[in-house]
Amino acid sequence: MVDKLMRKFLVPANKPVDLSERSTNETLGWDKDSAKGELAKVIGQMAFHQHRLMAEASQSLLIILQGRDASGKDGLVRHVMTGMNPAGVHVVSFKVPAGVEKQHDYLWRCHAALPARGEVGVWNRSHYEDILVPRVKKLVPEETWRARYRHVRDFEQMLVDEGTTIVKFYLHVSHEVQRERLQKRIDNPESSWKHDPSDLSDRAIWPDYEEAYEDVLRETSRPHAPWYVIPADVKWVRDLAVAKIVLNSLQEMDPQLPSPKDDLRGITVV
Ligand code: ADP
Repeated sequence: MVDKLMRKFLVPANKPVDLSERSTNETLGWDKDSAKGELAKVIGQMAFHQHRLMAEASQSLLIILQGRDASGKDGLVRHVMTGMNPAGVHVVSFKVPAGVEKQHDYLWRCHAALPARGEVGVWNRSHYEDILVPRVKKLVPEETWRARYRHVRDFEQMLVDEGTTIVKFYLHVSHEVQRERLQKRIDNPESSWKHDPSDLSDRAIWPDYEEAYEDVLRETSRPHAPWYVIPADVKWVRDLAVAKIVLNSLQEMDPQLPSPKDDLRGITVV
């Protein structure tokens, strides 16, 4: 079942990507009520494997979340990732580079933010911003952002070679649903603080971002670090689809509990 889901959402390596052909709102035949129970079950299984990952302390899992404003990256972290033991989860939100970050190459802050052995890292935005934003906003020459596809592929390959499993999600939200969510955010006093004028200026150049994302997906989805395009108009579908794929990664990593440090036979604690 999860295989079918993964094949459906996977971005094949080196194949052109047309996001307009990928659904933003399908429900995969799931229904909302049973999806809730299913999500709880999947999160429970994720926590089971994460416990082993922490104990084993030799591999790490890096989950990368990309998507437009209001595509649900924060919601996903809240609904799915919090089911795991927070002591072993490292969530990082990447903002516009500032201060010392600007004094280094763009991967410097990424390297420092990686999950340690035994940890799950969740990146809300990532080094992919360093290709998308400079390209769309014309901040650097084309050859500079274009070279970053290769840097990023090599960086991710190195991480995989050294024991990190990488899984990347593009949360695919429609133009209309983004409009509704941004409007709701502005109208609600509990969330209006989140409004950023750049949300509207980025929305105004929607097609430029679409093209930039399509190229990033094609250039950087590889078997060792695959991208999945997740329909994100329906929040409970988004959450369950991502949770199932993350669980699959943890199952494939198959972390093992270490052996006890002693021969336990006959030990009685007094
Ligand atoms: P979010 O929108 O992810 O909830 P913010 O409102 O703080 O969080 O937005 C973060 C902003 O930082 C986004 O506009 C994003 O494009 C920008 N950003 C992140 N990384 C980079 C980068 N490397 N270069 C340029 N802009 C970046």
